[in-house]
Amino acid sequence: MKMMWCWRCKMEVPMLEDEEEQHVREIMDRGPEQEAGGLMLHERLKLILNYYNILTGWEETNFNAVMHHMVGLYGPPCEQCGKPYRTTKATFCAACGNKRILKKPSLRISFDLDDTLIAYSFPFATEPRQWWQKLLGQERLRAGTVALIKSLQAEGHSISIYTSSLRPVRRIRMLLRSYDIRVEQVINRQIHLKTVPVNKQQCSKYPPAFGIDIHVDDSTGLAIEGNQHKFKTIIVAMDQEDWTKYIWNEIEKQAKHFPNFKRW
Ligand SMILES: [Zn+2]
Ligand SMILES: [Zn+2]
Repeated sequence: MKMMWCWRCKMEVPMLEDEEEQHVREIMDRGPEQEAGGLMLHERLKLILNYYNILTGWEETNFNAVMHHMVGLYGPPCEQCGKPYRTTKATFCAACGNKRILKKPSLRISFDLDDTLIAYSFPFATEPRQWWQKLLGQERLRAGTVALIKSLQAEGHSISIYTSSLRPVRRIRMLLRSYDIRVEQVINRQIHLKTVPVNKQQCSKYPPAFGIDIHVDDSTGLAIEGNQHKFKTIIVAMDQEDWTKYIWNEIEKQAKHFPNFKRW
């Protein structure tokens, strides 16, 4: 529970925080169609009012008031006057007119190499190479890689490479640099084995050990490991059409679940 200014009531009221709101929603879901513990509407409303009043010490009698007194419905406090932004996405403060600076989450995103960014078993279209890149025998990156990584970095995300291959870190950095890409971390098989805790070594990759929020890979097996070991993945098929757009969409979807995105 948190005291906050309510735009409808024009006063400070106790608002329910996420877990409390969740509890209220659970009570609402216990309708008479439920076999066990189903409640009539008026019974549910009474339970919710009771819950709110016990939690807050108020004597609220209006159910609708409770339902709009949820912290999650509003934005954070205005930097200038302290009243909450009227919605999570408001671009200015309705009380003082302050222009809001919307912070987007900056995520740490890692990419697999083989069959994700580098053609290995599947011959996808590749980025054009300069004559000297050919001369140096640099590997070919999947078409769209350079623009994708640069646009993600321009949005404030940090990009790393996480590969199960044994390519030396220096070689990977040189390859990327030849395409004018710089990345934060390069994790190869050796670094993976050195860093990932013993109880996670059964995972083929374990991004949390490197502070990585989302890992992009072609392996569907990795998505299953991610579910089991609680890390987030984006699986992009080797023949995915508009693969860079697909990844952008997935990142936007997943970003909503990161705490700093939610209300800020
Ligand atoms: Zn209110
Ligand atoms: Zn304000």
